[in-house]
Amino acid sequence: MRFSQSFIPTLKETPAEAEVISHQLMLRAGFIRKLTSGIYSYLPLGLAAIRKVEQIVREEMNRAGAQELLLPMVQPAELWEESGRWQKYGPELLRFTDRHERQSCLGPTHEEVITDLVRKNIHSYRRLPLNLYQIQTKFRDEIRPRFGLMRGREFIMKDAYSFDADDKGASATYEKMRRAYERIFSRCGLKFRAVEADSGSIGGNFSHEFMVLADTGEDTIVACTKCSYAANMEKARAMESPAPDNIEPKPLEKIETPGKRKVKAVTQFLKISPKELVKTLVFLADGRPVAVLLRGDHEVQEVKLCNLLGVQEVELADDKEVYDITGVPTGYLGPVGLKIPLVADLEVMKMVNFTVGANEKNFHSQNVNPNRDFTVEKSADLRMITAEDCCPLCGAKLELTRGIEVGHIFKLGTVYSKALNACFLDNEGNEIPFVMGCYGIGVSRVVAAAIEQNHDKDGMIFPLPIAPVQVILLNLAGKDDKITAAAESLYQELLADNIEVILDERDERPGVKFKDADLLGIPLRLMVGKSFAKEGKVEIRTRKDGKVTALPLAETTAYVRKIIDQELTSAE
Ligand code: ATP
Ligand code: MG
Repeated sequence: MRFSQSFIPTLKETPAEAEVISHQLMLRAGFIRKLTSGIYSYLPLGLAAIRKVEQIVREEMNRAGAQELLLPMVQPAELWEESGRWQKYGPELLRFTDRHERQSCLGPTHEEVITDLVRKNIHSYRRLPLNLYQIQTKFRDEIRPRFGLMRGREFIMKDAYSFDADDKGASATYEKMRRAYERIFSRCGLKFRAVEADSGSIGGNFSHEFMVLADTGEDTIVACTKCSYAANMEKARAMESPAPDNIEPKPLEKIETPGKRKVKAVTQFLKISPKELVKTLVFLADGRPVAVLLRGDHEVQEVKLCNLLGVQEVELADDKEVYDITGVPTGYLGPVGLKIPLVADLEVMKMVNFTVGANEKNFHSQNVNPNRDFTVEKSADLRMITAEDCCPLCGAKLELTRGIEVGHIFKLGTVYSKALNACFLDNEGNEIPFVMGCYGIGVSRVVAAAIEQNHDKDGMIFPLPIAPVQVILLNLAGKDDKITAAAESLYQELLADNIEVILDERDERPGVKFKDADLLGIPLRLMVGKSFAKEGKVEIRTRKDGKVTALPLAETTAYVRKIIDQELTSAE
């Protein structure tokens, strides 16, 4: 590929619309262009990087025994009605009507389509397990598309779906996929972590997210500083604090706290720690009120609350709603005598002689104790874990880091197979629903995440396995024909050795070529210029550490080949 003839529309200025570095750099380096909100054209270099990721994904999925197919993007409403998701999915599902008044949608995911395909074609346990995947453009009408390829409306996903005869088989397939994902992201040359994620009603440790570690990530990961424990915020647990030793419950007391509503104001006024206060928060859980008890210094994790209550959605009630529901102004709520269902975080159930609102304006109650003064319907871990907490497995310190979710594996169980009546016959002739799993990778997001993780002030720094091109060869000849001839012959030699190379033979100053090479993040930069004229040497610079090696032209191709092979295998 010759630079002068390539479609690489680089920009000098950082476009104002781009907030995150990967988006800025992909626009500046001519990798992508926006068509409309959340919808991008992938230009040759952007597409080349995407294709590299796809190829690694494909190889590892095939190695794990999955088979590639390609499903339709347009899906009929009837299938989604069978699964119940036509109603449930919400506005991210782009629905439309065709000329025959048939309702359809653009596929945001393919559980329905694949389950339909399998129920019509697989009838016997002898054909199981089966794992099918595709790499395809998905459409999700995201409410806030942003950050370029990171959260598009149209994006490329690898999605796989597995079908097993029983739970044991499904767990084994899940493990296989987990290992395949570890290999995929290692081979992409990325620093990542697999974290436990919320698996909703399925339960157990059967959902993991794969996070590319980057300070700019949208997600927070809780990870142990010592052992391998890691989870996302929705799932993270912590070591429980020890139960207090034999503290005698004291008699309940009402105390005036004029105008003191917030945790900070109340605790300062009463000269107690927030750890000695319990706050009472009213939520609307699928529209129904429930009061949640939490220690003063803790915050609610809403997904945990949804799981405990078995609801889709919880929303904190506003001041007016709280007053309408309880007759008490916010800030003075407490569990004693409250007439709505109560649930509590585990830590609250261990506390003794704590302070709560007295359900009366300007008053709090002290020396409150669970079970004696109030009872809760349920208690569970409901809180957000913080960096102050300790690992639930080994007790060491936890730390919070940021990450970008690039993959998600999930054990589905029989949710879809039951809804769509997808069954096979076991060896005794019984009809059994398939036990399913699904496994996604945001292929286009992986490229953006790789840039978030690997860049400097000059541009991108691609890990070699997913770089759009492995080598950029700069002809720095000016008017020197001998240099041009050498650069041309080296270019041909590299091509003959199947090395991906772009020859920068533009009529530009060296400074411009250096800048562009850095911006594009190409791992190896070869320079034929002054050193060649003086001593016949080609300079080889590695983008990630700026190290320069000078070699005779005759040795250059072999050296480049060696580095490439090393980088490709060391990532495995
Ligand atoms: P998110 O929480 O980021 O919205 P999700 O839970 O909706 O992700 P999945 O349904 O599990 O994502 O999709 C599988 C993978 O597809 C994700 O891990 C992510 O890498 C990618 N992905 C999801 N939504 C987008 C998007 N809008 N743009 C680009 N990639 C996406
Ligand atoms: Mg989403």
